[in-house]
Amino acid sequence: MERLRVRTSSRTEFVDITAEVSKAVAASGLTSGLCLVHVPHTTAGVTINENADPSVRRDILKELNKVIPFQDDYAHIEGNSAAHIKSSLVGCSCTVPIENGRPALGRWQGIFFCEFDGGRSREVWVTCK
Ligand code: ZN
Repeated sequence: MERLRVRTSSRTEFVDITAEVSKAVAASGLTSGLCLVHVPHTTAGVTINENADPSVRRDILKELNKVIPFQDDYAHIEGNSAAHIKSSLVGCSCTVPIENGRPALGRWQGIFFCEFDGGRSREVWVTCK
């Protein structure tokens, strides 16, 4: 398993980690198989979506922040319930097929680390089998 470091700077933010995941897949030496991308955090996530137009990730974040407000009389005393909820909705892992030693992504797809309680230092765990 490879541990990638991600540094975020905003409270909510999508970071394109496609290149880093591709390097981890290449380093695994596998030409075919599966790549599991896992985020070991309860206030962050990982998702696959369009990385050609940056406005797509901005719109996703905008709507997530609208549907799940930062303040809403939450019970969780730490004050970051919105981040926990977004993490569960987006999910903390995704699986990508490996083909010819690379993640087999669609033409417009990229892999995004999703920060919901930043900025801070985060990890992404990549397992190739
Ligand atoms: Zn919390």
